[in-house]
Amino acid sequence: NKAIVCIVGRPNVGKSTLFNKLVGRRIAITEDTPGVTRDRIYAEGEWLNNYFTVIDTGGLEPENEDTIMSNIRKQAQIAIDTSDVILFVVDGTQSLTQTDREIGNILRKSRKKVIIVANKIDNQNIPSEIYEYYELGLGEPMIISAEQSLGLGDLLDEVVKCF
Ligand code: GDP
Ligand code: MG
Repeated sequence: NKAIVCIVGRPNVGKSTLFNKLVGRRIAITEDTPGVTRDRIYAEGEWLNNYFTVIDTGGLEPENEDTIMSNIRKQAQIAIDTSDVILFVVDGTQSLTQTDREIGNILRKSRKKVIIVANKIDNQNIPSEIYEYYELGLGEPMIISAEQSLGLGDLLDEVVKCF
């Protein structure tokens, strides 16, 4: 069975951007209904001859302010139920939020393999906010810039180690 990698995290941290990079090609995102995300959410990825399915859980449900937390809980539960590895994406340039803590608590209790991915680190300067993410008790954050394609090789090395 092919390994499944789920991407979870609060809105706007860069889940879909990372998803598109992990599956190796840009996937067109079209939205004709406001607030309805129509991102493609499943795709195949490959790294060093390891083949896996990536799921962008953020594309599963429309995201609006009323439903963000209930969606995130649902998304985290889907990730826990289906995946071999969970990529918990946070915005490494911003402080840890209450939503991040709630997601972290759900994931930690699941005892699944979780990799914290601190995204949006677009240059060599590591913001001090990064250190707050150790508080989640899920290990050391992997530092990436999905947009600039930085740190993705090291991240994928860690992902395939979990299979
Ligand atoms: P999602 O809601 O978690 O799926 O986040 P998106 O992938 O839609 O990204 C949200 C916003 O963050 C978009 O404007 C992206 O261009 C931006 N973004 C994503 N990754 C990066 C990154 O590595 N660096 C920077 N500076 N912006 C990013
Ligand atoms: Mg998205």
